[in-house]
Amino acid sequence: MASPQVFKEVVDMRAFSREQRREGKTIGFVPTMGYLHEGHMSLVQAARQQCDVVVASIYINPTQFSKNEDFGVYPRSEAEDLRKLAEAGCAAVFMPASLYHQSGSSSGGSSSADGSMVVGAAEAGDPDAHETWVSVDHLSQGLCAKSRPHFFKGVCTVVTKLFHIVEPDAAFFGRKDYQQWRVIERMVRDLDMAVRVVGMPIQREADGLAMSSRNAMLSTEDRQRSLCISRALTEAREHAVAQAADAATLQQQVAAAIAAGGGRVDYVEVVDAQSLQPLQELPGRQVLIAVAAFFGKVRLIDNVDFEAP
Ligand code: AMP
Repeated sequence: MASPQVFKEVVDMRAFSREQRREGKTIGFVPTMGYLHEGHMSLVQAARQQCDVVVASIYINPTQFSKNEDFGVYPRSEAEDLRKLAEAGCAAVFMPASLYHQSGSSSGGSSSADGSMVVGAAEAGDPDAHETWVSVDHLSQGLCAKSRPHFFKGVCTVVTKLFHIVEPDAAFFGRKDYQQWRVIERMVRDLDMAVRVVGMPIQREADGLAMSSRNAMLSTEDRQRSLCISRALTEAREHAVAQAADAATLQQQVAAAIAAGGGRVDYVEVVDAQSLQPLQELPGRQVLIAVAAFFGKVRLIDNVDFEAP
């Protein structure tokens, strides 16, 4: 089990990728924020199957968090992550200290107008600030963007930067973050990025909870309560497939089950799985039921997709 090469600097990461390409190898890329679990590892496995060389990144991207979110307490486990990536046959890991021109403190700075963390912000009066952003107009609205309006701009910007640094042939994303996957697909299409985007199925714990680095932040009671999300989604899908159900009924059913289970619902939406636009009539449609809910301070997301009969 060879240890992956760890790169902290952009130039070193890029040099590695270019060397691989010179040798005619294809690069599969798995961007993560670390604290790796089987969900992440399923992406590494897929990248290994589809590409010659796998590169992962571990970077907690400050621009996708707002001031009042969990940037400061996001779990970290560098040594354990590297062990898992070595075992999975990852060739290189990109772990930058920061990907932005920082002004002031390196811990994140102040908040910008849209509530996202400021990294070397122009608002802070730093003429050398990072001030270039990538955003996808419509797919980035609704669902997670309602309560996290800054989120997709931060994600698209950091993924663009990572694509420019790693120069992968293919990049692997989990469909747990369904909207994120669709937004990145659209960004890659619209900006002619030479990367194939692959969306992989949600990996779940044995009891059904979607794997997430944030699960580690749940109290024992909330960990148990959070099972109501996957249960509610499974029941809704079964209901919709067995007997024609309308979107409003499914939405109410899922929201009520999560509230009864002790969660604070951020959103439950029944949308078209491609456009992410709300659906009323389901028959014949590719349906996505997407959920975000808080258990304590921890915000969890999950979804199911299916073809409505
Ligand atoms: P994160 O570290 O949370 O930013 O996630 C990095 C990548 O892993 C993203 O593409 C996620 O969608 C994916 N991922 C996270 N959890 C899961 C899961 N339970 N199943 C599949 N993919 C996942």
